[in-house]
Amino acid sequence: MSRSILVLNAGSSSIKSTLFDKHDDALHVRYDGQIEGIGSKPHFLVRDGSGHLIHEQTWIDPPLGRGHAYALEQLAAWLDPQLPEDGLIGVGHRVVHGGPRYSAPVLLNDTVLRDLEYYVSLAPLHQPANLAGIAATMDFLPGVPNVACFDTAFHRSHPLVADRFAIPRELYDEGVRRYGFHGLSYEYITQTLPHIAPAIANGRIVVAHLGNGASMCAIREGRSYDSSMGFTALDGLPMGTRCGQIDPGVLLYLMQEKGMGARQIEELLYKRSGLLGLSGVSNDMRQLERSTDPWAAEALDYFVYRIVRETGALAAVLGGIDGLIFTAGIGENSALIRARVCAGLEWLGVRCDARANEQHGPRISTPESRVEAWVIPTDEARMIAMHTARTVLT
Ligand code: AMP
Repeated sequence: MSRSILVLNAGSSSIKSTLFDKHDDALHVRYDGQIEGIGSKPHFLVRDGSGHLIHEQTWIDPPLGRGHAYALEQLAAWLDPQLPEDGLIGVGHRVVHGGPRYSAPVLLNDTVLRDLEYYVSLAPLHQPANLAGIAATMDFLPGVPNVACFDTAFHRSHPLVADRFAIPRELYDEGVRRYGFHGLSYEYITQTLPHIAPAIANGRIVVAHLGNGASMCAIREGRSYDSSMGFTALDGLPMGTRCGQIDPGVLLYLMQEKGMGARQIEELLYKRSGLLGLSGVSNDMRQLERSTDPWAAEALDYFVYRIVRETGALAAVLGGIDGLIFTAGIGENSALIRARVCAGLEWLGVRCDARANEQHGPRISTPESRVEAWVIPTDEARMIAMHTARTVLT
């Protein structure tokens, strides 16, 4: 018998939705919907399981910050006639922050929702959109169980030293910790490894999630040991528009010497930095790779440099590595970045097979390479669907 699971990923300016059909243990994508440009020019596309476009819609963004609610109404209106009469097992939501408490997906109830509201202060740019998606779902699908799946949960296995900042203890106690993000992506990679690369699945792995958001994770015996991201999704690697690791003294300088306030600094670090800030050309890796602008080349140099540097740090805390995995938009598609990163890691025992790398793997290391290097596509929506099925059916 086939039953369905809806996965919702409500972000700050976009809402992704995927409807999965569950046949026994297999999950098949029935629809994949994407609303982009909330707050500016909303655009809604839906594709079927084979990737064919089956619905396209635009609308005028409503005023007074109602963009999200209105977009969710459009999604609900489209989805309603598609939903199976009695087949929806549950709705899985991507929630950026589970705070110190949640180390696994959880069925949503009033107590959990209160906790998640409390964590808005830890992720003010993302958590409110996640919660708006949950509220809208509860309205348009009353009685269907909702499951929260957290980007932070996979990292709750970090040892204390990886979880702290060297600031007064009371701040740690109130939640100022190195949480780590992209956990659903790392968890998906971890649980596919035994099928794809069994020799290293239980070993010491560094995964590079290189997309518009980028981070790296050290994994030992299938559990997260450390992450390049910390308290927020700003830390670690430079990203499309986010700065990555920065000396906090720079923020003091911006405040004291330039008179900048919190909002301005937030906008600078989240929206105008990273590859965009470095290049002045684009936040998009495809455009940077094509560009002849010397600043675009400098942005690529910096990106690769920081990935190599971070891999060295994560390899050190793991005591060496057995596997290096590339994933997400850049990690899965940019042979250039992978080749340059692997070249920078030859000292660690990584030997890239140039042809396999051009063909996007999946294995991109030579047979002699001491470290296995792989390209593995991530699938956070599927991970959420698996969690949702498990949480609701057990
Ligand atoms: P994501 O956030 O995972 O969707 O990744 C988005 C990033 O992947 C953007 O910087 C894209 O330019 C990059 N990307 C996607 N396809 C390619 C490609 N074929 N070559 C280089 N970068 C790519």
